[in-house]
Amino acid sequence: MQMLRAWGVVGTLTMTLALAGCRRADAQVQEGSGGKARTPGGQDTQMKIRYSKSGYDITPLPREQVAELAKKLDPEAYRITQSAATERPFCGTLLDNKKDGVYVCVVCGLPLFSSEHKFNSGTGWPSFYREFDPEHVARKADHSHGMIRTEINCARCDAHLGHVFEDGPKPTGERHCLNSASLTFYEKGQELPAPSRPAELAVAYFAGGCFWGLEHYFQKGPGVIDAVSGYMQGKTDNPTYKDVCDGRTRHAETVKVVYDPKRISYRQLLDAFFKMHDPTQLDRQGPDVGDQYRSGIWTVDEDQKREAELVIRQLENSARFSGRKIVTQVEPAKTFYPAEEYHQDYIVRTGRACHVTNPW
Ligand SMILES: [Zn+2]
Repeated sequence: MQMLRAWGVVGTLTMTLALAGCRRADAQVQEGSGGKARTPGGQDTQMKIRYSKSGYDITPLPREQVAELAKKLDPEAYRITQSAATERPFCGTLLDNKKDGVYVCVVCGLPLFSSEHKFNSGTGWPSFYREFDPEHVARKADHSHGMIRTEINCARCDAHLGHVFEDGPKPTGERHCLNSASLTFYEKGQELPAPSRPAELAVAYFAGGCFWGLEHYFQKGPGVIDAVSGYMQGKTDNPTYKDVCDGRTRHAETVKVVYDPKRISYRQLLDAFFKMHDPTQLDRQGPDVGDQYRSGIWTVDEDQKREAELVIRQLENSARFSGRKIVTQVEPAKTFYPAEEYHQDYIVRTGRACHVTNPW
């Protein structure tokens, strides 16, 4: 999977699109990204929901939420994490901790360091030669006290943690010098609270004509981790694009959507899907004709099935369709076969497009 693609071209971008083989044609695409959010630094920015490679939600928390979380801290932890203070050497509670486990942010719970990388630096502060995940610990230049140092902060809540120096052991040569009060330790085997666990992801499958466009716009959904083009619901294993184009295998061009249900619901994905294509067209979508372009929702459980069927009933009775039949098939998902690499991220790489409009 291609995790963590950048989504969100900030602002509006209008592209005139070139002809795309058997596919359509000079459409215009509007791109955009999610709503406004405030960073811990307090500036308005476009909200960028982010996940680390190790699977954690590292979207910067709004300043108000950090303030709320910080209220529960003891005065020492508050002073250190919120005002970049430093605890006295040889006084921190985690300096001599030799147990196996994970060190998480005392404010927001994000895992920051692991016992695997802890070493005795002799400095009087807990020391690690690398982060739990480099994306979880942010670095910035610190010119305070007449020194040039690199400050380290929690990437999610901006809590001050300590500093990183280039005098550590191999293999990194780094010494992350931590304040014990900025960390909470969980011993191996202990149950971690929800903010310290990876995001629990879900999967959904949609077929709505050419998969290039569907993949492109699902990828932009706020809370979508990944969208992949592929083939599903056919009669053979490991189909190629040519097999599917010939139409004999009965596969449908399908997009697999991996998402965080805490950020985006299945219902929101269904709504986007029905905005992106015309579900009244049977075995075609715009200029693309053939049952590989059929409209379909391939469900992974009963809840998805129920919700998909409900949305179809509601749409048929809505003003948009006013009684016109929706031909979208709802079937239990069979095996998903990713399409060839040259189909992935097709629109981003080529600037071409199909019939699909931005649903977000
Ligand atoms: Zn944090």
